[in-house]
Amino acid sequence: MLIPHDTRIALDTVVDLLNTAPESAGGDSLGDIPSLYAFVRGHDVSGVGRLGEPDLTAVRDLRKRFAAIFAAPDTRTAAELVNRLVAGAGTTPQLTDHDGYDWHVHYFAPGASVADHLAADCGMALAFIVVAGERERLRRCEAPDCGRAFVDLSRNRSRRYCDSRTCGNRLHVAAYRARRKEAAG
Ligand SMILES: [Zn+2]
Ligand SMILES: [Zn+2]
Repeated sequence: MLIPHDTRIALDTVVDLLNTAPESAGGDSLGDIPSLYAFVRGHDVSGVGRLGEPDLTAVRDLRKRFAAIFAAPDTRTAAELVNRLVAGAGTTPQLTDHDGYDWHVHYFAPGASVADHLAADCGMALAFIVVAGERERLRRCEAPDCGRAFVDLSRNRSRRYCDSRTCGNRLHVAAYRARRKEAAG
């Protein structure tokens, strides 16, 4: 699957935002405005000015909407959720080649709030995944004590665990067992 550079960055942002939530991190790591600044800086979200309490609330609401898209029971539901998200964010598609990247499209409107910025660009990245027929790659880790979000980019869509330290180990053990079984059979 060929995912454009910016789409991949946007998908990483969705996953990282989901994983700040209590259900996947054991405590909300987006609990205050400094942590929102850190998140925004860590993900190179451009054109962000002063952030306040309304931004924090809006980004946490957005996180719930991304979670619903990941949990959507079918593609039609996911498509409707993405449509509503993107429509509400007031997108303005703009071609850009900033910072040495090749031409790509930004979707957020000039002067958008950080939540609308993320809703527009991450929403369109999710739209791209739906269009590509790859929605089932939006996953939650199956480890019983985990539940972190990830995007399965493996060729055969077989990834079941996230790459956190504990689950990554599990992943290696499972791969090792599979190889041994294959060698034995
Ligand atoms: Zn860009
Ligand atoms: Zn995990």
